Amino acid sequence: MDTGDAGRQTQRRVLVVDDERVQRLIVGGIAARAGFAVDDAESVQQARGLIADQQFNVVVLDLSLREGDGIELLRVLYESGSDPVLIFMSGFDERVREAAARLASALGLRVAGTLAKPIDRNRLMAMLGDLPQREVRSTAAPAAPVTPQALEAAIESGDLFCLYQPKLRLADRRIIGMEVLARWRTKAGEIIPPNLFIPVAEEHGLIDKLTWCILEQAAAALEAMLWINPELTMAVNFSPSSLIDLDIPAQIVALLERYAIPAEAVVVEVTESAVMAEFVTAAEILTRLRIRGVKVSIDDFGTGHSSLLSLLRLPFSELKIDQSFVRGLRHDPEMPKLVRAVLRMCQELGLTVVAEGVETEEIANILQELGCTVVQGYLFGRPMSAADFSARLREDQQRAAA
Ligand code: C2E
Ligand code: MG
Ligand code: MG
Repeated sequence: MDTGDAGRQTQRRVLVVDDERVQRLIVGGIAARAGFAVDDAESVQQARGLIADQQFNVVVLDLSLREGDGIELLRVLYESGSDPVLIFMSGFDERVREAAARLASALGLRVAGTLAKPIDRNRLMAMLGDLPQREVRSTAAPAAPVTPQALEAAIESGDLFCLYQPKLRLADRRIIGMEVLARWRTKAGEIIPPNLFIPVAEEHGLIDKLTWCILEQAAAALEAMLWINPELTMAVNFSPSSLIDLDIPAQIVALLERYAIPAEAVVVEVTESAVMAEFVTAAEILTRLRIRGVKVSIDDFGTGHSSLLSLLRLPFSELKIDQSFVRGLRHDPEMPKLVRAVLRMCQELGLTVVAEGVETEEIANILQELGCTVVQGYLFGRPMSAADFSARLREDQQRAAA
């Protein structure tokens, strides 16, 4: 079916893939009413031909086709380099549809949602009217190349600095801590984010230098912040490659003593992969830190592939649920169940759970209902300078005292 519209060149296009003709007509009709030009296909093969010929803005896909299945088409779309938004439909239960949606997301494709059959026309109409935009990532390479030499010079000349992002208690929204996040300000005034220079530091033996540079600045800042709120905690990220140096616990304690910071005020954040690479050494370092009173946190929980049991036998005090899970709470019906299970497990083990990447009130409310107590995210504050953070902290203290 082709609506053959005059404004075809600029009109957005939908491809409906379903082996049942009636379904193709229904879905195609709704899409046409939503202003799309419509093509349809009854098999993967036919769809493949159409995708090779033209760009589609949306593909509405039945998961079970007489010849092949809708999943096959995900690969075709992925490899074709076209970038349509997907809508899945099927008579299978929700878990199958959601698994398909996750698979598509994992391939980097956008998904507007999933539909049970028979199709809810209003939902399909709503999905077509509110297609997810491709996130605009700043892929622009920094003007100055991130070379190990430039990074080392930046560390030595003080161009590496810290931002501080608040961590809040959800129940009363008071600031209980902050996470230290590294930034690099180039001589040209450009700010380079850590995902561009941390890997360079790790690969070229600069990570320890970088970590200490950050720790030193953060400790000085924390010393001042503790005057405003003596209960404040500071979380610092540690690289996997730092978790092989057995002297680290003693060095951290010495640093804290120098700034008269209680060990209990510090949280060392490590990712799952960091711990698993050199398990025994990492276990020793983390245990020694804990014995000295420093807290340790599993960062980005859910993104690694570690054995949950080994991980949980380590003396962690906190677990940070990764942002992708937190964001998924809004549209993935399985996510609340997973988060609830993680919360229950952590409660049993005596671990505090922090939800990262909370951007909306809606997500904050879902987290509160699930029983999550500590949150971090743009909704509550972006990473900010020490001066801005201290001002926030002062306000927070005054509000609590009022
Ligand atoms: P991370 O430790 O998981 O830190 C959280 C990241 O999420 C930060 O990105 C933060 O700015 C961002 N974020 C916080 N709230 C939100 C939100 O609501 N929405 C979104 N979209 N993002 C949010 P950032 O600062 O770019 O850091 C990225 C990663 O770089 C960190 O992830 C951490 O793994 C690493 N990193 C940062 N500073 C250091 C450091 O000093 N040492 C080491 N080894 N790694 C660091
Ligand atoms: Mg972190
Ligand atoms: Mg994280």
